[in-house]
Amino acid sequence: MCGIIGYIGGKNCVPILIEGLKRLEYRGYDSAGVGLIENNTPVVIKKKGRVAELENKISKLKIDSSVGIAHTRWATHGEPNEVNAHPHVNKDSTIFLVHNGIIENFNELRTDLQNKGFEFRSETDSEVLVQLIDFFMGKDVSLFDAVRYAMNMVKGTYGIAIASTHVPEKIIVARKGSPLVIGLGNGENFIASDVNAIISYTSSIVYLDDGEIACVQKDSFEVKNIDDELIEKEIQQVKISIDSISKGNYAHFMLKEIMEQPVSVKNSFRGRLLFEEGSSKLGGLQGFETRIANSNRILICACGTSWHAGLVAEYMIEQYAGIPVEVEYASEFRYRNPIITADDTCIFISQSGETADTLAAMKEAKRRGALVLGVCNVVGSSIARESHAGVYIHAGPEIGVASTKAFTSQLVVLALITILIARTKHLSLVDGQNILRELDKIPSKIQQILDNHAKIEKIAEEFIDSKNFLYLGRGYNFPVALEGALKLKEISYIHAEGYPAAEMKHGPIALIDKNMPAVFISPVDSVYEKVLSNIEEVKARKGRIIAIATEDDNYIDKIVDYVIKVPNTIRMLMPILTVIPLQLLAYHIAVKKGLNVDQPRNLAKSVTVE
Ligand code: GLU
Repeated sequence: MCGIIGYIGGKNCVPILIEGLKRLEYRGYDSAGVGLIENNTPVVIKKKGRVAELENKISKLKIDSSVGIAHTRWATHGEPNEVNAHPHVNKDSTIFLVHNGIIENFNELRTDLQNKGFEFRSETDSEVLVQLIDFFMGKDVSLFDAVRYAMNMVKGTYGIAIASTHVPEKIIVARKGSPLVIGLGNGENFIASDVNAIISYTSSIVYLDDGEIACVQKDSFEVKNIDDELIEKEIQQVKISIDSISKGNYAHFMLKEIMEQPVSVKNSFRGRLLFEEGSSKLGGLQGFETRIANSNRILICACGTSWHAGLVAEYMIEQYAGIPVEVEYASEFRYRNPIITADDTCIFISQSGETADTLAAMKEAKRRGALVLGVCNVVGSSIARESHAGVYIHAGPEIGVASTKAFTSQLVVLALITILIARTKHLSLVDGQNILRELDKIPSKIQQILDNHAKIEKIAEEFIDSKNFLYLGRGYNFPVALEGALKLKEISYIHAEGYPAAEMKHGPIALIDKNMPAVFISPVDSVYEKVLSNIEEVKARKGRIIAIATEDDNYIDKIVDYVIKVPNTIRMLMPILTVIPLQLLAYHIAVKKGLNVDQPRNLAKSVTVE
């Protein structure tokens, strides 16, 4: 959440910062701002609302500056307005700072500084950082050391960038818990919350680690730890194509990402299917296979859509590998006293690899001796770097705030992990090969569903005025019901609940009347007959029913109002298919309601705050 970008070099940085902010906008979009140094004069411009509005404001001023920092905000403390927007500045605007994260002890620090005569303008937690730095600089400390001392005093999480007219040739950055990278150019350097923001300028990237602070100049950089010790950093070459982070001809990133799924899913298993052995090849887990297979228990921790993928994995692993699985919300896991032993394997799923709760839960499990595995999309992300081992999902950059292709790729990777463990246990060669063959066919089956796009759009038309929705499924498709409901909530602001279909009669059935649509995920499988009974129960109460059904099921057409057919596959892979119509349904309902699906109200991607 919240995007930071900075530039120091020989060019006018205004267009670079604005372009970077646009690429980072998925991380926050309630207000934005830039802090520039022009002829050694500070220039701070902020605007409530989207980056485009900031751009508009700046374009009227003819600014030429070759050093600047910028921020697009997702408010945690203080409402989204111009005063609370970043950068925050000290009293004479000679130091400016942008921050991603939460300073937990800001109240106490602020009172202390106020007692020393410092005046605060905003309601944010972030402002305390710039005042603290100002306080230390007033004691004749360098900007770098002032930041270091401030880091020592604050509790919480931060990715920060600071520029100052006192040292216009430097940008100082530091991180603890929120991501920050340095991009190295020729006579110019960049800083950003993620690589996407600067990839059109450089692919040479340095990832900052927690507790590190860097001084970035136009042709050098230096990283130290909080104790002022020099740290040797590796420069990594990162490959991301510009196409993959652009919308192309699509109206929204979300639609592009839904449509990309035949390819993204294929990329998740490309080179990883060992047909002869009926197993999978996951380089990132090499050497850990036996330890995972011998685990007493597998604990999966995640948030949001990734948590739903974890629930599907629970069914997969228990069915095929016979290891007990527990799925936890990362945010709950870390605030109780979880029973974790060295015989447990813990899997942490996060698209961004930066989800604050998931990262913190991972550190806790690691501390308690468990083997920790990461399943992430973003290469080089914190979870990927700090886990013992892991698997990238290779879905390509996901920019739409509502996760789509990352979910299906997570399911593919979790299926591959299942096969790998199961083959060291009871899964036979033939059964392993059968799963791989089915997996191999999934991309073309997804394409078949996407080709049915127009029908789903038409169904969506019927439901734009609905106020509530129920999503119901059983077994492997219960997590899909949760995911379908989440997609609708996220982008269309229609209240929706996902439930195990049979649980409906223990409560939600009371909500059903002619105004309550129910989406049943009801492929023909071992619980099909049971789900049909649940459909009848809704029908008897006049609920309108949409069914996601398998293509050879002709019976269901006769009993429900709308049917969306998906091709058949084995049960464990079915969620990869059944979720696609639900993504499209949510997308079209939201678009028809005139909503901004890529930047839904109150949400942001890459949840780097708790
Ligand atoms: N806590 C800061 C604020 O509310 C930064 C939030 C963020 O990371 O977007 O302004």
